Amino acid sequence: MSAPGFTGAGIDRADQLRLDETALRRLMGQAGARLLQLAELDPVLDEEGRLLWGAVAAGESDAELIFLGLEGEAPLFAPLVSTGRPGQRAWSVFRLLSLMSPRDAAIWGAARSLNEWHSRHRFCGICGAPTLLFRGGWGRRCPGCGAEHFPRVDPVVIMLAEHDGRVLVARQPQYPAGRYSALAGFVEPGESIEEAVARELLEEAGVVASGVRYVASQPWPFPGSLMIACLAEAEGGTLALDRNELEDAMWVDRAGVEAALAGDRAAPFLAPPPFAIAHTLLKRWIEARSKGEG
Ligand SMILES: [Zn+2]
Repeated sequence: MSAPGFTGAGIDRADQLRLDETALRRLMGQAGARLLQLAELDPVLDEEGRLLWGAVAAGESDAELIFLGLEGEAPLFAPLVSTGRPGQRAWSVFRLLSLMSPRDAAIWGAARSLNEWHSRHRFCGICGAPTLLFRGGWGRRCPGCGAEHFPRVDPVVIMLAEHDGRVLVARQPQYPAGRYSALAGFVEPGESIEEAVARELLEEAGVVASGVRYVASQPWPFPGSLMIACLAEAEGGTLALDRNELEDAMWVDRAGVEAALAGDRAAPFLAPPPFAIAHTLLKRWIEARSKGEG
């Protein structure tokens, strides 16, 4: 079974070291310490499509670095990038992601999400004073009121409704030509995952659904979501699209989904890229149906 994109970093996050400033300084000065190379927030790759790492320079020991964790004995750090304009998503990064291993994407994704969070939390939300990085980059502290702020993750549900052996896929106007994907939306305060899935399907496609089943999850570093992929059973096949959100939607049968995942030119739609959990979700739906038959 294929793992979702942006998972499988395989490093020890070593939380116990984050508050130990002496240990962090020692790790920064260690010969094997490695610093992730970034171009603003984007990954920098070598000729084989692997993340590029540099040494932590002596002068950088006191710089604001994010401690990503330990890979074996080697401490991994990411720079704190001050782009001054958070929230920018360069489409070019999707081309790079298609070249990267899931492991590298996971490491880079964590560094990107943390950087986005830091750039949005330079001031305390309680008293307005400038905040300072602490816990090896996994938090910011306010010297004004003493508040501690921690990186947030926004839960997003992403789902396939099933009806009569087919699943619902949809496209937003900004998607590349032919691309269809699963519906998705933020979980709102006061809502369970199951309720968010049912609400999004009703709001965006006019589909009444129940029987929500969790399938898989992935971090999505644009800027810091946790995608929660689900399947749900639709009561009927009639659609009423929210045209502010969706350009089109359609029900696709198993053969159509298989053709899309195979990249077949005759497929009814262009599948989402493998690093997106919508791809994993479509794959898992096919796998579950294959098992059902066997
Ligand atoms: Zn404060």
